[in-house]
Amino acid sequence: MITLPIRLRLTAWYFAVLAVMLSAFGVSAYFAMRHSIRRTVDEELQIRAEGVHQLIERDIQRGHKDDLPEGLREHTELRSGGALLQVSDDQGNWLYRSTVMSDYGVPRPTTIRNRATEFMGKDVPLRIWNEKVSVGGQSYLIQSAFEMDDFYEALHDFALLLFISIPTLLLCAAAGGYWISTRALAPVDQITQTARTISAQNLSSRLVVPPTGDELQRLSETLNGMLDRLEAAFKKITQFTADASHELRTPVAVMRTRAELSLRKARSADEYRDVIAEVLAELEKTSGLIEQLMFLARADSGTETPHFAATNVTDVLREACHQGSALAEAKQIAFEEKISTDSLWIQGDASSLRRLFLILIDNAVKYTPASGQIEVSLQRNNGFAIAEVRDNGIGIAEADLPNVFERFYRADKARTRELGGVGLGLSIGRWIAEVHAGTIEVHSSPGHGSTFQIRLPIAKPAA
Ligand code: ADP
Repeated sequence: MITLPIRLRLTAWYFAVLAVMLSAFGVSAYFAMRHSIRRTVDEELQIRAEGVHQLIERDIQRGHKDDLPEGLREHTELRSGGALLQVSDDQGNWLYRSTVMSDYGVPRPTTIRNRATEFMGKDVPLRIWNEKVSVGGQSYLIQSAFEMDDFYEALHDFALLLFISIPTLLLCAAAGGYWISTRALAPVDQITQTARTISAQNLSSRLVVPPTGDELQRLSETLNGMLDRLEAAFKKITQFTADASHELRTPVAVMRTRAELSLRKARSADEYRDVIAEVLAELEKTSGLIEQLMFLARADSGTETPHFAATNVTDVLREACHQGSALAEAKQIAFEEKISTDSLWIQGDASSLRRLFLILIDNAVKYTPASGQIEVSLQRNNGFAIAEVRDNGIGIAEADLPNVFERFYRADKARTRELGGVGLGLSIGRWIAEVHAGTIEVHSSPGHGSTFQIRLPIAKPAA
């Protein structure tokens, strides 16, 4: 099906609605005018008939019945200003019939259905008023008539005027409507043109916003807002790809250099073992990184779906602490658990939650110097399970705090790389917290330590 451009469709609708309205107006104006003419003529004819009626009554009462035809002739020709009258009695005898009436051959109806009738006499339209009166026990039919040719000619001229002016008016209005809709929709064409030129290469281009304060201005602003968000998302992806390739290239380059150097000359078995151990350590880090990247890719594409079930956070956090305390012990960091024995049930995925807690505990160990302290706590508050991992390590500068949950963000690049971090742990952690309808927050001051707090909504206790 062919779809017409919107401006043509608007004009067509406009034309159709206007055509119906103007036609209705034309038809009603024509009939109203005809009705008004006929009513005026009928009133006049009725008055004349009434005059004749009075004359008949007067003559009969005076006993001048024989003078009636003469009286009627005089009355008609002298007083009523016209000769269009005929009067007959019940038997069909003419009491009086003017010459014009008999020339026109106006008939005498036997029964009267309508007092006002139309008759065509010698191509002249006549309007006839039929008044039946009863005087002195005898009934008479008074018929007064009017020549309508002038009126009907005027009516015909009026109809012709309507017939010519309405289509002309319609055409002008349709042309005007088309012009207005073309003008009104011109900015849409401009928006389309600009939008067509925007691609991944020039996502920073924006649509021109017409300062009209109308729907088109709002449309341009909304599209520009969408472009802002798209550009930001696109930049994030580009940055993520660049960071990911960079992080992967570094360990590969290290492993390659180590391998090449060791192959330059013959080495002892111990030397080879050292190199292989180094390469293995790099490989472990790299596969850890690849695993994190894969996790985030699955999270982005929606394929990483946690398996929600009634989960006791107390148990999960205890398990994470068990693993974490070993790491802390290895670094001579005091590790304290402040977890009550009460169960705290939430709807969650135990392995994702364990991963989240381990990320925080692992970070606390990484960023706390030897002989520091780590404290892990869990409590119930206002329908939430609140887990906290607190350390008295290096802390995070205020400027870095809003960014630590961003992918590949490291507060102190050189230092954290040394400690083995690539800046993906907290972004994974935030995703896990949010997918559990929870939140993750950090409070920190450099040199004094950091506290990471997770709030998870508590579900009904398990049976
Ligand atoms: P990484 O793998 O580098 O630790 P994360 O996403 O887990 O990545 O953390 C992002 C950055 O936040 C870290 O590089 C570090 O600068 C900072 N950070 C995270 N946890 C702590 C902490 N407990 N103490 C100090 N800094 C931290």
